[in-house]
Amino acid sequence: MIVVFTGGTGGAKLVQGLQQVVAPEELTVIVNTGDDIEWWGLHVSPDIDSVLYELSDLLSKDRGWGVDNDSFRCLERMKQLGQPSWFSLGDLDLATHLTRTAMLRAGKSLSRATAELASRMGIRARVLPMSDERVSTMLDTAKGTLTFQEYFVRERHQVAVRRVRFEGAHRAHPAPGVIESIEAAEAIIFAPSNPVTSIGPILAVPGIRDALRRAKAAIAAVSPIVGGEAVTGPAGALMKMMGWESGIAGVAKAYEDFLDVLVADRSDEAAASSVCTAGLRVVCTNTIMKSMDDKRELAQFTLEACAVQGSAKA
Ligand code: GDP
Repeated sequence: MIVVFTGGTGGAKLVQGLQQVVAPEELTVIVNTGDDIEWWGLHVSPDIDSVLYELSDLLSKDRGWGVDNDSFRCLERMKQLGQPSWFSLGDLDLATHLTRTAMLRAGKSLSRATAELASRMGIRARVLPMSDERVSTMLDTAKGTLTFQEYFVRERHQVAVRRVRFEGAHRAHPAPGVIESIEAAEAIIFAPSNPVTSIGPILAVPGIRDALRRAKAAIAAVSPIVGGEAVTGPAGALMKMMGWESGIAGVAKAYEDFLDVLVADRSDEAAASSVCTAGLRVVCTNTIMKSMDDKRELAQFTLEACAVQGSAKA
């Protein structure tokens, strides 16, 4: 079994590539839920939805979130009715949130609701939320304390961040299957997701980081930082705020206690040798995923890097 840790937009692209090179039944995807938001009374799980839409080929390629070719008539009407509208939900996307919310109100756990949604979308990979309990990523900023979506979408991440906290993490438990899949994995891959706000919340759930430190499988991460900068979004700035370099050295630092292999972009080849240590190998390839071929090739490369590392570990 191959286990992937991921956030939404960047990570989901690699997950789709992995689905091309691994039998879907052999793929377990552990997804950040620190970004989840209650919106118009509905439970929205943006990162889970990006993974579900990417795996079922529904994700909008232009926007990188939501359903392809969706309309926004409900959003327009909500605006006219004086409802908040800074967080856009498409009409087809709404069906997912309505279904999830109905399942949760009927007493199902988030992991159960996610599994049912995945199955109804024809997805055969196992998609797990990091936890069934609510963990909220909160950012202390120059404009006060904001939820992740207020920071990322409403403020377009243009506000200085002083601290990132994961509210509720200390009393949360890993969702059923999370620890078991880390223990049973043949390879563990961190997708190129924001180490602070996409992977950070997952690692903050008690028990997950310890399980990774104990894991027998090789653990690889694909860097979301390319040429010293995030491909998209605020990862670079948030990593600096954490005291980590905005570069592949910073990614290595974020995962230093369990990482075996860092997959970096060719444009970072010069920095690779200084990041290598006795316990960490750095390998370089093209990590920018624009086409399906890019996704598949990066997935294959990362798996092969894990296999080599796995035999070195054994
Ligand atoms: P979010 O939950 O929507 O923020 O999504 P993620 O955390 O999964 O993805 C955001 C991260 O993905 C950012 O840090 C980007 O730098 C990175 N990213 C986006 N596209 C790519 C890509 O094609 N290649 C690589 N290496 N990183 C990417």
